[in-house]
Amino acid sequence: MGIRLGCIADDFTGATDLANNLVRAGMRVVQLIDVPPAGTDQATDADAVVIALKSRTVPAPEAVEASLRALAWLRSVGAEQIYFKYCSTFDSTPAGNIGPVTEALMEALGTDFTIATPAFPDNGRTVFKGHLFVGDVLLSKSGMRHHPLTPMTDSDLVSVLAAQTSRTVGLVDHTVLAGGPEAIRARIEDLRKEGISIAIADAVSNDDLLRLGAAVQGLPLVTAGSGLAIGLPANWGFEPSPAAAQLPPTDGHAAVVSGSVSVATNGQVLEFLRSGRPAFSVDPLRIAAGEDVAGQALAFADTHLAEGPVLIYSTETPDAVRTVQGRLGAAEAGELVERTLAHVAQGLVERGVRRLVVAGGETSGAVVQALGLTGLRIGPQIDPGVPWCAAALPDGDTLHVTLKSGNFGGPDFFSAAFDLLDREAS
Ligand code: ADP
Repeated sequence: MGIRLGCIADDFTGATDLANNLVRAGMRVVQLIDVPPAGTDQATDADAVVIALKSRTVPAPEAVEASLRALAWLRSVGAEQIYFKYCSTFDSTPAGNIGPVTEALMEALGTDFTIATPAFPDNGRTVFKGHLFVGDVLLSKSGMRHHPLTPMTDSDLVSVLAAQTSRTVGLVDHTVLAGGPEAIRARIEDLRKEGISIAIADAVSNDDLLRLGAAVQGLPLVTAGSGLAIGLPANWGFEPSPAAAQLPPTDGHAAVVSGSVSVATNGQVLEFLRSGRPAFSVDPLRIAAGEDVAGQALAFADTHLAEGPVLIYSTETPDAVRTVQGRLGAAEAGELVERTLAHVAQGLVERGVRRLVVAGGETSGAVVQALGLTGLRIGPQIDPGVPWCAAALPDGDTLHVTLKSGNFGGPDFFSAAFDLLDREAS
């Protein structure tokens, strides 16, 4: 079997979210970090490939270029349907990038119709009469109206998307969705005849997404948040199965590297410290003073790795972070910490760590780059939206890694992560 679904995601954590949904619906999924060079086949033995780009907030021409490169690669490995994945709050500006990327993908695929829906009811994102709700409020009344890069002040997705594209935008509303896949297909045909080429699709429940998923079988391109992913694998006969999330066996040391300063991560670090396990705190001021903090952290790890998971963390309360930022500047402090933790992760892997939890979105990016990881096979979910992954290290060994963005996961996330791997292995 070849690649069924080829996905282009406009940011890294969104890509993982999508991959995770596809795995839960029964597909074996590989997530690639950026577009591989032409000719590299990293995706054998997967049903879906998700390419993670960083194209959400870059200028539209750059987003288009990267997305077209991803498309070309996905087509080269035989992907049968393309899924352009954006944020479930439709993060974009009047200049793009959702409209321009959708249009470019349609052109490259030679298709005259696609759908657009950010709906993800499990995460409180619903679309009703073309209007996006975040929890109980319209998008324009949600925190997204103050987003620094992509403020969303209009909840009417037909008008939001129309402002970003020269294509005509229509609506498949909830009454059509209630009629099931046949009714949706009939509506799509009508819209096509009217010259509409992108339709916002309502969805207020998972049932809506399942019906929509069935109706878009065979469309060369779909565009959506990660919610629609629950409704596509069945089109190829996939069913939820633990086998889809199976990772190769693992052994080796376990460690957590945490550079997140989010509330949830603060709780997780506290919980780890309370349990009395070995932990080393990375102080940005000591890095700035020229101390070899990474070396100290690794020396600490050397004496404790045999005991079980070791935590190396820069996680601090907001007050402490503000103090450090006041002294060093926010960007400088962030960069020093990211560089140090990436170095620590490298050293940990050299010391035989093969089960690694990374907390923090930016921190994860730095660690993935330092370790030279290019692809992740998506495994079982630890907490909603956060799966274990298996990655090939440059020397061919397998590293189990989970990349947790700041506010994800319950207080006992770190121990839950390792417990899950132990359970899988037994
Ligand atoms: P999150 O997903 O929680 O936002 P990120 O890793 O994306 O976590 O971002 C956290 C940022 O804060 C990173 O740039 C990191 O280097 C920086 N940082 C981490 N610890 C500290 C600290 N103690 N003082 C100042 N900045 C820090």
